[in-house]
Amino acid sequence: MNICTGTAITADELPFNNSFAELPPAFHTRLMPTPLPAPTFIAASAPAAALVGLEPQDLAGQDFVDVFTGNKVAVRSQPLSAVYSGHQFGVWAGQLGDGRAITLGDLPGEGGQMEIQLKGAGLTPYSRMGDGRAVLRSSLREFLCSEAMAALGIPTTRALMVTGSHQPIMRESVETAAVVTRMAPTFVRFGSFEHWYHRGRQDELRILADYVIKNWYPEFAGAANPYKELLAEVTRRTARMIAGWQAVGFMHGVMNTDNMSILGLTLDYGPFGFMEAFDANHICNHTDQGGRYSYANQVPVGHWNCYALGNALLPLIGTPEEAEEALDAYRPAFGAKLDELLHAKLGLLDVREGDEALFDDMFKLLQANHADFTLFFRRLGELKLDGDLGQDAPLRDLFLDRAAFDAWALQYRARLRLENSSDERRRAAMHRANPKYVLRNYLAQTAIEQAQNGDYSGVHKLLGVLERPFDDQPENEAYAAMPPDWAAHLEVSCSS
Ligand code: AMP
Ligand code: MG
Repeated sequence: MNICTGTAITADELPFNNSFAELPPAFHTRLMPTPLPAPTFIAASAPAAALVGLEPQDLAGQDFVDVFTGNKVAVRSQPLSAVYSGHQFGVWAGQLGDGRAITLGDLPGEGGQMEIQLKGAGLTPYSRMGDGRAVLRSSLREFLCSEAMAALGIPTTRALMVTGSHQPIMRESVETAAVVTRMAPTFVRFGSFEHWYHRGRQDELRILADYVIKNWYPEFAGAANPYKELLAEVTRRTARMIAGWQAVGFMHGVMNTDNMSILGLTLDYGPFGFMEAFDANHICNHTDQGGRYSYANQVPVGHWNCYALGNALLPLIGTPEEAEEALDAYRPAFGAKLDELLHAKLGLLDVREGDEALFDDMFKLLQANHADFTLFFRRLGELKLDGDLGQDAPLRDLFLDRAAFDAWALQYRARLRLENSSDERRRAAMHRANPKYVLRNYLAQTAIEQAQNGDYSGVHKLLGVLERPFDDQPENEAYAAMPPDWAAHLEVSCSS
C-alpha cells in the first residue's frame, strides 16, 4: 500500500531508502542479486508485511516474487552486501561478510524503517567457499521461526516472505533453492565492529558506531561517552533477549559474534531448536560437538560476546575500566528479566523470599525427569490450588518420579497461598506467559517435507498456528503434541 495515497503499489515503486549504502564504500559492495530460474511464491507473513505497509496478497504477485527473489531490482533499490568479521565458536575467524545476503534498501513503516534483505540471492565477494544460496528447508525454518519468535514477544529480525525455485542446490543431498526476505531496522552485527577493530581502522569504527547511534540509539548522541552508553545498552538488550530465549526454551545454535545483532535481536536462524525433554545441557546444533552453545551455555556466551563487542569498541570508549563498567550491566539485566519472566510463567504476582529456591527446585525436577518444557508450563497453568491427584494427572504424568513432582507441587501451592492466588486469574495470566505452540523440530520438518513435494499448505497452516502461540486453538491441538518417535532421529546442523 502506498502510505501517501492508500493505493496498491507495484514492486517497482517500492519506496526504498538506502541508508547503509550511504556509508563509505569500505563498508559494503554494491552488486546485483543473481536471478533464480522460474521463482514462485511460497509464503508470506501478514504481520511482517504490515510493518512495511504491504499486503500478503500483493506479495504473492509475480512482480513482488521477482523483486524478492532478486530477479528484478526495484527502481529505488541500491542492492549491496555488507562486510563484517567475527568470532566463530570462540575463535577469531577474520573476515566473513554477507556471503549470501543482499540488502535491497530500507522500506518505511509506522514503527520505523526496515532494512530489507534477501538471504540466498547469489554469490557476493564475501561468499568464500559457499555458493551464495540457501535451500528451501533452511529458508522455511528461518521464515517460520522469525515469525514464531516475534509472536512470542522475543526481540527478533522478521521474515516477510519466502520464494522458491527448482534450481538444484548441493548440500548433503541435492535440495532446491529458496530466498527468504528478512527485515530488521539494521543487520549490523557485533562482528561489524570487530571487523574494523581488528584491522586497526579507527575511523571506520567511529563511522559505524555513529551511524548506529544516530539511527537507533539517538538518546546517547549527546552523552559524555556515547560509545560506552551504546555498549551498556547493547549489553542490557542482549541479556534481556537471552532471558527471553531461556524462558521459552529457545536455543540459537550458532551464537557466533557475527550472528549477534547490535539491536539485541535474535538474528540468523540456522540450527536452532526449542527445548522438548528438558536438559539444561541440551545441544540443538549437531555441528556443535563441544556444546559451546548448549541451552545453559547461552547465558555466559551472551556475556562473552558482549565482551568481544566491548573489546572492539575500546578505542572509542577510552579505558578498559569504562568498557568493563558497561559490560557489568549484563548479569543484573539478565537476572532481573529472567526473574520477571519466571514469576510470570509461574503465575506469581509478587516477589518473595524463597522464590529463587522454588525456581531452582523446579529446574532440578524438570532436569531429573526430562519433562517436556512447553507442556510443563502450559499444564502448570491448569493447576488448581486445591486440586487432587486426578486433577493434577495431565501435569503429573509428565514426570516419571511422581513423588518428586508432588513434593514440588506442595511447595508451589504453599507459595500460591501466600498471595491468595486465584485459580481463574492465574490460569489466564499463565496462559499469556506460557506458549502452547512453539516451533518444534518435527513440526518444521513435517511442513518442510510437504513443501519439498510442492504442497505449501502445511507451511501456511503452521505459520497461522505459531502466530497465536498463547491461544488455546482447540482445533490445532495436534500442533501442541510431544514429538513423535521418528523425531528423535532429527538432527539440525550448520548445513543450510
Ligand atoms: P552462518 O553461520 O550461517 O551465520 O554463516 C557464517 C558465514 O558464512 C556468513 O558470512 C555467511 O554469509 C556465510 N555463508 C553461510 N552459508 C553460505 C553459502 N551457502 N554461501 C555463501 N556464504 C555462506
Ligand atoms: Mg550468520
